[in-house]
Amino acid sequence: MNKLQEELSTLVRASGADLFGVADLRITSDFIRKQGGEFVAKYPRAISIGIRLLDAVVDELIHHEEPSVIFTYRGLYNSANASLDRTTLLIAKKIQEKRFNACPIPASQMINSAKLEGAFSHKLAAHQSGLGWIGKSCLLITPEHGPRVRLATVLTDAPLKSGAPLARRCGNCTRCVDICPAKAFTGVPFDPSEPREVRFKAHLCDEYTDRREKLLGEGLCGLCVFVCPYGATKHSKAIPKAN
Ligand code: SF4
Ligand code: SF4
Repeated sequence: MNKLQEELSTLVRASGADLFGVADLRITSDFIRKQGGEFVAKYPRAISIGIRLLDAVVDELIHHEEPSVIFTYRGLYNSANASLDRTTLLIAKKIQEKRFNACPIPASQMINSAKLEGAFSHKLAAHQSGLGWIGKSCLLITPEHGPRVRLATVLTDAPLKSGAPLARRCGNCTRCVDICPAKAFTGVPFDPSEPREVRFKAHLCDEYTDRREKLLGEGLCGLCVFVCPYGATKHSKAIPKAN
């Protein structure tokens, strides 16, 4: 780890975030360009950061029809995003001081609502940096916290040392596939050569959350975050066998 990387890692921890990794994006630049254009594809590296969500809130998402539960989850979600956005700004400023380029990508961003896609995939950067793998829920699954994390990214050309992607550890588990009320997951494991539609019917999740929005005034669901045995606490503790 070079001096700048150490400074950035220290800054991230001091800001209250829990995860820090660096991804080499060069092998995925075609995919990145297709999703967000040259604006994002021109950067060779990404800094991925994550903040752990609170178990006291996520553990209650099985009761996600209750307004008090889901509005509390919304509050946590928003404050985690705001905290990440402040940290990515500080990272980008620090890199700029060293005369390199850095572009923070907001934790919550959507440029294609039909596909539920932003300009850049935080999950891609987190996976490439070695923070976790892409589960059957299409979420980033970290070994320690499962999908109970929010992510943000800083794209950069600063000379940082990158990590290596983690192999997936979902094994035979299908909990996220089984619990999804929209039946949005097909259960097909992640394969970067296949389009996301093979694994995730985004429009079904979108329609379901739209119905919840009309009914409850809040669309967030979160069952696929709640149910994953990785990072689970009191409701589901068994870890599936690795492949
Ligand atoms: S948020 Fe809910 S509806 Fe959407 S994919 Fe996850 S479990 Fe399914
Ligand atoms: S619930 Fe099971 S299958 Fe789904 S992402 Fe988590 S470990 Fe993988």
